[in-house]
Amino acid sequence: EKLKLRRLINVDAVTKSGKRVIVAGNIGSPKDVDKVLEVGGEGIGLFRTEFLFMGKDDFPTEQEQFEAYKYVASKMGDRQVVIRTLDIGGDKSLPYLDMPKELNPFLGYRAIRLCLDNKPLFKTQLRAILRASAFGKIGIMFPMISGLEEFLKAKEILQECKEELRKENINFDDNIEVGIMVEIPSAALAAEELAKHVDFFSIGTNDLIQYTIAVDRMNEKVSYLYNPMHPAVLRLIEMTINAAHKEGKWCGMCGEMAGDERAIPKLLELGLDEFSMSPSSILRAKEIIINW
Ligand code: PEP
Ligand code: MG
Repeated sequence: EKLKLRRLINVDAVTKSGKRVIVAGNIGSPKDVDKVLEVGGEGIGLFRTEFLFMGKDDFPTEQEQFEAYKYVASKMGDRQVVIRTLDIGGDKSLPYLDMPKELNPFLGYRAIRLCLDNKPLFKTQLRAILRASAFGKIGIMFPMISGLEEFLKAKEILQECKEELRKENINFDDNIEVGIMVEIPSAALAAEELAKHVDFFSIGTNDLIQYTIAVDRMNEKVSYLYNPMHPAVLRLIEMTINAAHKEGKWCGMCGEMAGDERAIPKLLELGLDEFSMSPSSILRAKEIIINW
């Protein structure tokens, strides 16, 4: 069975009806890239950058971050690497960053909210990503976007970083794709408006399900309610994909659902363009797609 799957390593993920989709990997640190390449992953759909910030006693420098991003981008060659900006807060804290004690951390000071409030921290990461974009095909993705205002603010800061680099004569990919995670119901509901401004969407079902059904993704007591196939969740996914396509943009998914065997046929039916998952699910997902 394993051997049979390994034959798919270099096979394109094309459905029986002829639709080509991208099967990519999620990584949490640069050393995971090899696992994606080994199974023929066609890109990195989610590079979680929190690892760079955790388990140390100070913020990583621009140079440190640049080297990590450049390493991954170079290794992936012409395959796209979507780097997600810092998603700290919620259940993840940093020992060297003063965080307010919150009653509802998952509804609080987290991810893009924290970054927009800490501009120097955000700019350091954006500059590092931009610099790395000269060495491969990188995309930037903002987490926890709840509406257009936030995205436009983040893009404005990105623009500022580009101007700075230009003045410093530092190379970067000026056409770098900029997208958002759709993981808050309000973003899915406002997808038509957002789609006019982004280059792509990537649906973060881990959080989208949590917020849509009001079910804590970590809480065993209510995990029976946590259902990727809930009609409300499917409806939000459908709206997001349709909104992207209406503006000629692509829509991926990087939550666990993208690698879920039971969900993949439904996601194909809804028109999802890119599936990003744990490297260990990639070959099986390809098999399902090819036979669909
Ligand atoms: C998600 O929410 O689906 C996601 C991919 O992000 P994370 O699991 O890191 O919150
Ligand atoms: Mg998330």
